[in-house]
Amino acid sequence: MTRQRKRFGQHFLTDDEIARRVVGAASISSQDTVVEIGPGRGALTGHLVACTGDLHLVEIDRELVARLKARFGTSVQVYPEDVLRFDFNQVVSAEPQALTLIGNLPYNISTPLIMVLLGQLDIIGQMVFMLQREVAVRLAASPATRDYGRLSVMVQRHCAIERLFDVLPAAFAPPPKVHSTVVRLTPHAVPRGGPVEDTVFINVVRDAFSMRRKTLRRALKRYQPDAALQRLGIDSGLRAERLSVEQFVDLANQLATTVRDR
Ligand code: SAM
Repeated sequence: MTRQRKRFGQHFLTDDEIARRVVGAASISSQDTVVEIGPGRGALTGHLVACTGDLHLVEIDRELVARLKARFGTSVQVYPEDVLRFDFNQVVSAEPQALTLIGNLPYNISTPLIMVLLGQLDIIGQMVFMLQREVAVRLAASPATRDYGRLSVMVQRHCAIERLFDVLPAAFAPPPKVHSTVVRLTPHAVPRGGPVEDTVFINVVRDAFSMRRKTLRRALKRYQPDAALQRLGIDSGLRAERLSVEQFVDLANQLATTVRDR
């Protein structure tokens, strides 16, 4: 048995029925190229190898890498790497490719990882991830709700989000302190709201939500947003959580010159 490394967010799934449901949620066919993120001791991997012959595993813990190689041999490709730095293009074998990414993600990196993956969506067909329940709620939140924030806007611009099912801490060893939720993220063919310069959009959304209690007029003060908000018919006394993804795109386009100059 390998050691449990807290810094790698290691909580291993021990409920095989849940593992089967997670893999089943991805509806994988034998032609699909699948990347499992953080396979650990192989709870999901055991089901994945039965679905496809093109399976890639990205695991940071070298002890687990050795164990995965011993168990699955040449039926998988194992990458002993940090997924935050992983170039998913290296597993693309044919064009066009729509990779399936799947994983019971280490909770400490799930949000940064999803943000990184937004930059590689051209080769991703779907992502089925087990996440901390609170993160899943924030991802799928609607405007004007408590959980709607920067993460919701950034991800919903690019992906449809489905919350599939919840998983109790008892399904893992050791059990985490939080509940989990399995989600599916499916990239939109065209990002919601239409074209916008990425850096401008990222800056406006970040700043708008940086002080949740503040109105748009105050949170975006440095862009002098009054005229732009007025042109868009948005009340400058509103808070950021009232704006839809499309309104954020419109606002970023209106503020583009000021933002770019910063
Ligand atoms: N998939 C396994 C399961 O369901 O039992 C393990 C899940 S555990 C929550 C997360 C896994 O991700 C661990 O195996 C951990 O070593 C690995 N991991 C943590 N950080 C990583 C990173 N930056 N890159 C790749 N793998 C990572």
